[in-house]
Amino acid sequence: MRLRMTLTAKLGLAFALLAMVAGLPGLLLLGGIARLRRQTRRSLAELASRDACQHARATAVAASAALRSHALFPRDSRFGDAARAGVAAADAAVRAALLGLTPAESSSLQADATGLDGAAAAFLGAPTIGPPPSAEPAKAAADALIAHLDRLVQDDNESLAKHGQLVASTVDRLAIVGEAGLVATGLAALALSLVLGRAWARRMAAIRVGAERVATGDLHVRIDDRESDEVGTLARSFNRMVGELQILEEMKSQFVAVASHELRTPLTLIDGYCGILLNPAKGPLSEWHQQRIELIHGQVVELLSLLQDLLDAERLQTRALAPVLEPIDPESWASGLVGSFDGLAKGKEVALRLTVAPSTPRSGLADVRALTRVLRNLVDNALKYTEAGEVEISLAGHAGELTMSVRDTGLGIPEEDLSRIFGRFYQVNDGRPRRGFGLGLSIVRGLVERNGGTVKVDSRVGSGSTFHVAWPLRLEPLARSEAS
Ligand code: ADP
Repeated sequence: MRLRMTLTAKLGLAFALLAMVAGLPGLLLLGGIARLRRQTRRSLAELASRDACQHARATAVAASAALRSHALFPRDSRFGDAARAGVAAADAAVRAALLGLTPAESSSLQADATGLDGAAAAFLGAPTIGPPPSAEPAKAAADALIAHLDRLVQDDNESLAKHGQLVASTVDRLAIVGEAGLVATGLAALALSLVLGRAWARRMAAIRVGAERVATGDLHVRIDDRESDEVGTLARSFNRMVGELQILEEMKSQFVAVASHELRTPLTLIDGYCGILLNPAKGPLSEWHQQRIELIHGQVVELLSLLQDLLDAERLQTRALAPVLEPIDPESWASGLVGSFDGLAKGKEVALRLTVAPSTPRSGLADVRALTRVLRNLVDNALKYTEAGEVEISLAGHAGELTMSVRDTGLGIPEEDLSRIFGRFYQVNDGRPRRGFGLGLSIVRGLVERNGGTVKVDSRVGSGSTFHVAWPLRLEPLARSEAS
């Protein structure tokens, strides 16, 4: 099932996924830190208890030493006082140590401390007259208390060491979780940005390619608009716009076709009648009539050629002009065509020349009608935009390709117009007289491209222009057998 979401929702989902990937290690880290805090608290309590036991042991050792001294000098009251004070200090230290112990530990230590208290009281409270009492029970009680405290200190040390290891391993684990979380978050972010970015780039590229194809006149292009997000909406608007442009284009083509057809019939008739009227065999005309009819004839011929341009431009646009291949001898074809411009060139003081390089193919198959149209348009322009000077047509090439260039020493074309002069209805707007309708070069480019060739222009304002055409020639079957 396809998930229908807007781009904003997709981005939101991606960020939520990312937050989850980053959040999981975050939660693990928080849990680990809480455990670490508990373990540290427990270790601190154990450390305090151990210190208290150690202190109690030291006081018990001091009390034991005082009791032993008193046993040696039973008649010296100073030793008796020191032993009493030592036992009291040990009692107080044991009481303080009891606070950090478990109830079981506490009651057993208390029992030993009470034992020492009792034995010491019996030993120290004995009358000074008579034989001295035995110090053994008090010494034994002190030793038992010291041994008990030793065990407790040792237990605490062991437990501290164990908890220290636990803390160290928790810290290690936290470091691993942190690093893994960092790597996982980085990888997830990378994967998400790659997936989203690539999908986004692919779809935007489709729109860009579509727009470029529309710019070259292809109105059949449609882009994938099935997604319901913002890019999908853009794609749908694009398709709708191209669809409407296509309808308009079709209406315009029909209009041009119908209008040209409707105009062509009466214009051809007028052209024919002008020819008849100007024919001397049909009777003499006064000079006044002759001049006017020639004027009408010239205008009609120009209108017919404009209609032809409009129709051809339209057919090229709708791809209705299919190439028709015929045999051609480029040199004789070009000299015939160039010769037809002689009159025009002489009237303008322009030297018109044809140069044929030895590399020019001698024969081949080409769409001669289209080729003629191209060269005619280029020579026509060269003469149109050159008042005096030179127009040179050069042929060259090799087997399989004819190259032609048309060079003039006329007005030239401003650099900023060079990339646009091949567009339909485009005319240079630098104050020069406008002749024609800006269709000639668009027809040239359309015909050249339709036949698999290329057309380029070099030009400098004031120095003139050169148009270069490369036109593929198919080898004739005859030429192929000759070559073999
Ligand atoms: P047009 O019928 O107006 O000549 P084209 O499509 O043949 O239309 O040419 C487009 C424009 O390019 C013209 O308006 C003209 O200014 C410029 N141009 C074409 N050929 C030449 C040239 N040989 N010398 C100078 N300008 C030229």
